[in-house]
Amino acid sequence: MSALPDPRERPVYIGSEIYRRSTYGPKHPLAIPRVSTCTDLIRAMGWLDESRFVEAPIADDASITRFHDPDYLQALKRAEATQSVSEADRARFRIGVEGNPVYREIHRRPATSAGGVMLACRMTARGGVVHCPGGGTHHGRPARASGFCYLNDPVLGLLTWLDMGLDRIVYLDLDAHHGDGVQDAFHDDPRVFTISVHEAGRWPFTGAVDDRAGGDARNLPVPQGCNDSEMRLLRDRVIAPLIRERRPQAIFLQTGADALEEDPLARLSLSNNAYWDTVSTVRALAPRLVVVGGGGYNPYTVGRCWAGIWAVLNDIPVPSRTTPAAERVLRALTYNRAAGRNPPERWFTTLRDEPREGPVRDEVRSLADRATKETLDA
Ligand SMILES: [Zn+2]
Repeated sequence: MSALPDPRERPVYIGSEIYRRSTYGPKHPLAIPRVSTCTDLIRAMGWLDESRFVEAPIADDASITRFHDPDYLQALKRAEATQSVSEADRARFRIGVEGNPVYREIHRRPATSAGGVMLACRMTARGGVVHCPGGGTHHGRPARASGFCYLNDPVLGLLTWLDMGLDRIVYLDLDAHHGDGVQDAFHDDPRVFTISVHEAGRWPFTGAVDDRAGGDARNLPVPQGCNDSEMRLLRDRVIAPLIRERRPQAIFLQTGADALEEDPLARLSLSNNAYWDTVSTVRALAPRLVVVGGGGYNPYTVGRCWAGIWAVLNDIPVPSRTTPAAERVLRALTYNRAAGRNPPERWFTTLRDEPREGPVRDEVRSLADRATKETLDA
């Protein structure tokens, strides 16, 4: 541990080369490079002092089974070794079905995400900020894969903090999908308060506004087209006050980038300004902050969003134009969807989106009212 940088001095970035050539298969939404794009962009922008970069270690079995079933972990290892899955493992562990394919690094990649996130939490023992964009697989279940997630690295990170003795933690999830795996893992644990903002009516169809998981969760299911103005209202009227009230020792922030307007898997309309503003607000609310990634299926918008988060954490102003090196990183991407055939120039030449302000709809206001009610009767 002595060789590791101190995240209290300046933020630390945990990455890994495992993400660069790893793909869930050519037709899967996770065919695209995301973490490597973010890492390449922050280097190309001149934003990464290499002394702040830490390689994510692969998590060992003992730390993974702190949450996950040992039989399930062995099934992931078998699938990686044989590049196939038995009928029994498929049925029991949901490997090889429902968007959770057998792929080359099916054990090593999620174990690296888990190792990076657990290291991030250990490194913040005495405080500080760590960005680990390879983490964020919030749908993973103790004994099955779910929603492109095999292990649940946020849960493993939060358990690391609990094992260190922290007992007032906030988990905030900005992904377009409900953070169901994390909420359920801490359903009966008042030490972890979970807040999830997600698109209403979208998979996994949980996380209704009245679902408080026994009291220590809040859910903000937002309507299609949710814009920056609406997100700001939720942040200022619901999210920030709820966090302040708890005076957390640590905040775990999941920044799945699929709530951005150009994401192909959801129908929300945020610009990356909404993410960056939320990161900036949340950072001031606790002495420890771990920021992870999550969903996000347009490589241009995910890479630009997450690179900008690193800039925000470091108080680096985002210039109006990318550097030539960053532009080359973006131009080298390929994106096998209609929008990828003729990408707009701004995906190459800017990191900051145009703000997507708009009317704050009544349904968003009533969502804020409902979520901040002391009790849910009537
Ligand atoms: Zn998602």
